[in-house]
Formats: sequence, structure tokens, C-alpha cells
Amino acid sequence: MSDRAATDARPETEHRASVDGLAAELREAVTSGVTRSREHRAQQLDGLVAMLLQHTTRWEAALRADLGKSEVEAHLTEIGYVVAEARAAKRSLRRWMAPTPLLAPLALQPAVARTVPEPLGAALIIGPWNYPVQLVLAPLVGAIATGCAAVVKPSEVAPATSALLAELAPQHLDARSVRIVEGGVDETTALLEQRWDLVFYTGNAQVARVVAAAAAKHLTPTVLELGGKSPAYVHRSADIPAAARRIAWGKWLNAGQTCVAPDHIRVDREVADELVEELRRATAEQLGDPRTSPDYARIVNTRHLERLRGLLSGGTAVIGGEVDADDRYVAPTILTDVDDASAVMQEEIFGPILPVLPVDSVDGFIETMRGAEKPLALYVFARDADAVRRVERETSSGALGINIAVAHVGAAALPFGGVGESGTGAYHGKHSFDAFSHHKAVLSKPTGLDTLRVIYPPFSGWRARL
Ligand code: NAD
Repeated sequence: MSDRAATDARPETEHRASVDGLAAELREAVTSGVTRSREHRAQQLDGLVAMLLQHTTRWEAALRADLGKSEVEAHLTEIGYVVAEARAAKRSLRRWMAPTPLLAPLALQPAVARTVPEPLGAALIIGPWNYPVQLVLAPLVGAIATGCAAVVKPSEVAPATSALLAELAPQHLDARSVRIVEGGVDETTALLEQRWDLVFYTGNAQVARVVAAAAAKHLTPTVLELGGKSPAYVHRSADIPAAARRIAWGKWLNAGQTCVAPDHIRVDREVADELVEELRRATAEQLGDPRTSPDYARIVNTRHLERLRGLLSGGTAVIGGEVDADDRYVAPTILTDVDDASAVMQEEIFGPILPVLPVDSVDGFIETMRGAEKPLALYVFARDADAVRRVERETSSGALGINIAVAHVGAAALPFGGVGESGTGAYHGKHSFDAFSHHKAVLSKPTGLDTLRVIYPPFSGWRARL
């Protein structure tokens, strides 16, 4: 029996016993001060970077085993991404940790007001399988930078990456303040029964409801990083070849298993055929024969592959359409003749299937968004400034990309997160620090001159005192 099979065969009580009391144990590392010094935070961020860079080939191998990711993709979107976040956080620690002076109102003068960031405490970070390094370690950067302790629960659906994280983290990170718990629903349920100071969950909206309900029992705040159907809208004024190249790149990355991938395209009817031809050209340019391209990823498992196979019947595959279950391969596929009522338009696709649906105008596109859940991202391709402005003002989404898809994730200055059904809370860069912090309000007033006397009771005759 493999190690993994042996782990999965453990009785439920044993799963639970191994996580019992973890939240309290980790909170102790924060309250006792272990995690709070700038030196400790910097050292842990260095440890995180070393964990990634000293074992690069093993991370690459794990990501290839789980998702068939190419080395370049592994660096661009996972290893290098987290290294850059951790180094930037280390460089910024002094500035982020400093109190922020604020104006005290005239009526309270003389007085000094400021906010002081403090770590929320023990955080639980629950990650998904599609970017199994980035989506647990980028939040961990925020936790460490803030002085929090954290339990990281990677996804069991990316088992090679999860196992490697569990093996390497204890070698590079302080076990008093960072723990990895592998496992699935049982372990996560047992962890969620405990009282955390923050639960940071990335994944689908159904499980997010379970997570939020469990957290609510302890009044624990949550950051929920979810998904949804992120549309791209291509206006008749767009640079169609550029739009096609950028949409194709954002969609075929990680074989469409990206939370901010364009889920589908709405395109002005008169440029729809041209767009499909340009998507064909861009796909061929970027991937050649995707079947043999080392740059094209695989579907994470057979269950997801079969789900995607089912969605193919929602339209006509004018590009791609091939599926090979043995190789976990689904071809980059463009679907036309798609009905909004079909399954492919009702659920998040989360794979390399891209429906293209014509609309009459920007009004038609905005109308489709009125009835839809707010997506994690929305992309508009247009040279017409009025069309762009209307999409910006009349739709709501976690992020808006103008003539670009997906790349906003790499702009650390921008908060990354959803709104409504696509999530709540945001992170990346300083936003990660804020996500794990409480910004304590501090007001300090010298006692020498008691200007507050005017508002002490008794209130009889108070007008005369003013
Ligand atoms: P998943 O199946 O790996 O689940 C996510 C996590 O939830 C895992 O750690 C899993 O163990 C845990 N989990 C699953 N069922 C649970 C339960 N019943 N109780 C407690 N925990 C449970 O990943 P997924 O949900 O399939 O991920 C894909 C979804 O995540 C998509 O909707 C995608 O858009 C979204 N996503 C969002 C982001 C983002 O940053 N906003 C990033 C990636 C993925």
C-alpha cells in the first residue's frame, strides 16, 4: 500500500486526534511573542524562499505530476510568484509594521491618533488544487509578515504538491508557528471545529458556505477567495488579433484551470467570425500541437476530465474538442452555437473550453451581467473609450481587465479578491498584510490639561460652560 493510501485508510478518530488543539497551540506562539518580532518574520520569509529555491526541481516535478505544468508556468505562476511576494514583504516589513498617524479631531485636542497593526492570531489557510503552491504560500506570506501563526491545509486533489509541502515546511519554517496538515474533508472539518482568529479559504463557493458557517460559530472572520464565470467582452472596436492572443493565453494557461481565466466570451456579432479565426491562429502560435506541446497542462484528475467532457455537448467545437482520459488531456476548445441555458453556461467551466456567444452591442453585454452573479474578473477588449467606460461603471466584478486578461493577478499593488458570490476580502502585497492584521485604533491624550472637563456631568448648566 502506498503512503497515501495508508494515510487515507486511517480511522476518522485518528485523523482528528492529529489536529486536535492545533489552533490553541499556534495562538500561543503569537500571544507569547514568538512570531511578533521583525527579525522572526524576516527569518521565516527567508525560510519560505529557501524552501522553494533549494528544492526547485522537486517543486517542478510535483507540479508536473499533479497538473502537467511546464517548468516556465511553474515558475511564472507558482514558485517565482511566491518568492517575489515573500521578498517584497520582507523588504516592506518595517514600513508595514509602523503605526499610521491620523488626525485627532479639534474637540479632543491635544491628542494623538494612530492605527497600530497587530496580528489577528492563529490563522487557518485552506487551499485548492489548481495553483497548489501559490494559493497556500502567498497567503502564508501575509500571515508571516503580520506576525500570525498559521496552519496550512493544502488540497488533497494535488497530492504530490501537498506531500512535498508537508515534507519540506518543517525543514525551513518554525514549527511553533507554521504547520502543514494534509488531508481532505475529515481533516478540514476537524480543523474548522476549532477556534481560529482568521480562516483564509480559497476554493469553490459551495465549500465556502461550509467554511463560513463553521467560522461563524466562533465569530471568526473569513477571507473567501472563490471563483465564478468570469466573462470576456470583445467590442467591435477591439484590436481583434491582440484580444485573441491575450484571451487565448489567459484561457489555455494551466489548461483553463485558473480562477480568473476568461470563462466565456461575449463578442459583438459583426466581429465574431474574425475573433474565432484569430483565436485559432493564436492557439496554434502559442501551443502548436497542444497534444505534444510541453507548455500545455493536463486536467487534474479523471473526475474533472469527465465533467469537462460533459460540457462539450453544450455547443459546436470549431477548434479542439478532443479528450483523452488516459493522458488527462482535453484539447483547447472553442465552442460556438452555445445556448445560455446549457450546462457549459450555467456552471464555472474551469477547464480549456471557451464558449463564444454573440451579442448585439455593449448594451447587450451589460444586460447579460445584470442577471449574473458578480464574477471574480471581467475583461473588456475595446478601443472605444465610451464602451470601456460603460463596462467599468455598469458592471461589478472582483477585478476588471481592460484589453488584458489574467495579468492583474501579477500586479501586487492591486488587491486580489472577489465580490459577492466570487468572494470576500482581498490579498497580495500590502493587502495580504492587511488581511491578517487588526488595525488597532489608538488615541492618546495627555493628562496635564483636561480639556474634556466640559463634557463631564453634571450636565446642568452645560451650555454656559461652552
Ligand atoms: P478543492 O476541491 O481542492 O477544495 C478546496 C479546499 O476545500 C481543499 O483544501 C479541500 O480539502 C477543502 N474542502 C473540500 N470539501 C470540503 C468540505 N466539505 N469541508 C471543508 N473543506 C473542504 O478545490 P476546488 O474548490 O475545486 O477549487 C476550484 C474552485 O476554486 C473554483 O471555483 C475556482 O474558481 C476557485 N478558485 C478561486 C481562486 C481565487 O483565488 N479566488 C483561486 C483558485 C481557485
